[in-house]
Amino acid sequence: MKLESFWQATAPAFSGTATGPLPSQADVVVIGGGFTGVSAALSLARSGLSVVLLESGEVMSQASSRNGGHCNTGVAQNFASLVASQGLEQASRFYQAFDDAVSYVEQLVQDEQIDCDFRLCGKLKLASKATHLAGLREAAELMRRTVDPEIELLDKAAVRQEIGSDNFHGGLLQKRGGQMHMGKFGVGLAEAAARSGAKIYPHHAVTRLERLNGYQHRVHTGQGEILADKVLMATGCSNVGPFPWFQRRIVPVGSFIVVTEALEEGLLRQVLPHNRTYVTSLNIGNYFRSTADRRLVFGGRARFAVSNPTSDSRSGEILRQAMVQMFPQLSNTPLAYCWGGMVDMTADRLPHAGEQDGVFYSLGYSGHGTQMSVWMGRVMADLLAEKQTENPWQRATWPALPGYHGKPWFLPLAGLYYKAKDRLS
Ligand SMILES: Cc1cc2nc3c(=O)[nH]c(=O)nc-3n(C[C@H](O)[C@H](O)[C@H](O)COP(=O)(O)OP(=O)(O)OC[C@H]3O[C@@H](n4cnc5c(N)ncnc54)[C@H](O)[C@@H]3O)c2cc1C
Repeated sequence: MKLESFWQATAPAFSGTATGPLPSQADVVVIGGGFTGVSAALSLARSGLSVVLLESGEVMSQASSRNGGHCNTGVAQNFASLVASQGLEQASRFYQAFDDAVSYVEQLVQDEQIDCDFRLCGKLKLASKATHLAGLREAAELMRRTVDPEIELLDKAAVRQEIGSDNFHGGLLQKRGGQMHMGKFGVGLAEAAARSGAKIYPHHAVTRLERLNGYQHRVHTGQGEILADKVLMATGCSNVGPFPWFQRRIVPVGSFIVVTEALEEGLLRQVLPHNRTYVTSLNIGNYFRSTADRRLVFGGRARFAVSNPTSDSRSGEILRQAMVQMFPQLSNTPLAYCWGGMVDMTADRLPHAGEQDGVFYSLGYSGHGTQMSVWMGRVMADLLAEKQTENPWQRATWPALPGYHGKPWFLPLAGLYYKAKDRLS
């Protein structure tokens, strides 16, 4: 079993790296070469602005190529709970933003001819306990009336037609969910940005931001400095760099994934007859889908731990057991890949985007960001280019987490709390 991301291992290499030293000046410097940063760089370059993107490692090497491969519509949390906390109007706007984001990914794939197996397949949320069905029913009724008339609630028998497992008591089907090969999409997006004129510099970690005037900054890296009229932070859950204000608001939480060897066609049809994306209703649950070459991609929190090779393989074994418990027909299927990644969680499990101390940012997608990061790259680019646009994640305040300065000491406790909640639900 390879301890690396399947998406990264099977994507083409990025060929658009800028050559030579950093330019002395740019209209916009983007920090971070994941979906947010690269999508922003593409739109900024298309608007005719000079844009330099600085990435500390390789382009598309963190969350954007280490995720579960779901590109789903709808908010991650239960819609009824979101309405309770945010009000119907705001919750509906958030829901709509995810719809816009999926449509934008679909459009980019077409416009830039990115060969990444994108398809709209629907997302099925599976009730892991009979008691969870009531919550799904309440959410389905509310969503059908307000934001998504196509939504369907499936009972136990209907869900058994959808999935080759006896574990589930029903489900919620959202028709516009999508999936794609995240590595191929990411590299295709970065090639498009470079083609449009963005200068992309991997291995240029930003070490200092020196505010000069208004939005203008001198941006320092180990490889030199650059004067930026505006700066966009697209650094995910980075603990690298001079960003303490953000590090007090974003908690990096590990999530882990295994990918099987290719399944026989008949076996895959038995396990996932409709080939959608799937998530379970537990707090510490699982997410899964298949690939174009007939593998199962199976992820979950597994352990409240950071991602490194030892941690990933321990989590991989927990995931293998969960996968076989769900699909006993896969008990002899070998695993081919296993990896982990850090999710950029916020306290309200929603993204935040705006401007702080003269620096623009879009961060904190909380595990539901493959579509939103791409869309927010475009929204932030329009904002920076002073075009008319609506930022769905601009909020009046973004409070720091009390007692938190970048080291999430409370995660083991949170893990125990959510496990207990799952047991008692
Ligand atoms: C294991 C896992 C599973 C997930 N599954 C899904 C899923 O199935 N569906 C879904 O919708 N979402 C999922 N997500 C979330 C989704 O992948 C992210 O929301 C999205 O990729 C965020 O993109 P980003 O560009 O903001 O961040 P990233 O892709 O993390 O990019 C940030 C970049 O900034 C760089 N950087 C950091 N600090 C500096 C610095 N100082 N200088 C220069 N560069 C810097 C980093 O190296 C990194 O490349 C998952 C995430 C993980 C980790």
